[in-house]
Amino acid sequence: MSNENEHVQCLIIGSGPAGYTAAIYAARADLKPVMYMGLQPGGQLTITTEVDNFPGYPKGTMGPEMMEDFKAQAERFGTDIRYGYATSVDFTGPIHKVVIDENKTITADTVIIATGASAKWLGLPSEQRLNGFGVSACAVCDGYFFRGQDVAIIGAGDTAAEEATYLAKLCKKYT
Ligand SMILES: Cc1cc2nc3c(=O)[nH]c(=O)nc-3n(C[C@H](O)[C@H](O)[C@H](O)COP(=O)(O)OP(=O)(O)OC[C@H]3O[C@@H](n4cnc5c(N)ncnc54)[C@H](O)[C@@H]3O)c2cc1C
Repeated sequence: MSNENEHVQCLIIGSGPAGYTAAIYAARADLKPVMYMGLQPGGQLTITTEVDNFPGYPKGTMGPEMMEDFKAQAERFGTDIRYGYATSVDFTGPIHKVVIDENKTITADTVIIATGASAKWLGLPSEQRLNGFGVSACAVCDGYFFRGQDVAIIGAGDTAAEEATYLAKLCKKYT
């Protein structure tokens, strides 16, 4: 096990839209950001099909392609993008410590945590197969694709109520 140490000004953990947005700003501010992409380079949008709600893509775009665009823009300004997963952190002192893949310690003046969130799926095989083809975890993202149709919402908490309120304007019937 190696025990390399490295100090960076700005460390970004995560490579979804939030991580790349941070990288573009940090790189343009000459903070020389280093990004670790984690287990899902490009984040959640790499597992979807069409993204229709992002400004700048008048015809929509595919999630994985959009994330390649984010990456290219961050690289254009010099972001150092790396494979690796943050396995532990120590934020108790003035210099922040992050361990990558359990064997490389990075110290950083600033750490930007952009590790995202994930949907709580039901765990059905059909849910994976139909993800992006009628099954969705985001009404605001995908409700437009189902306008005029009958939809079912699984869940009964605040989030489900919010999603239902949004879909009520678009869909014929929701259950
Ligand atoms: C199937 C699907 C379809 C969607 N469609 C749309 C849509 O059409 N429109 C829309 O607006 N939104 C959509 N969303 C929601 C959108 O994907 C999220 O809102 C967005 O990706 C959140 O971005 P983020 O950068 O915060 O995090 P994420 O995209 O979740 O990225 C998190 C990143 O953190 C990394 N990471 C996590 N832990 C670590 C760690 N310990 N060390 C290093 N890296 C780590 C991961 O590898 C990943 O790169 C969809 C989501 C899904 C799942």
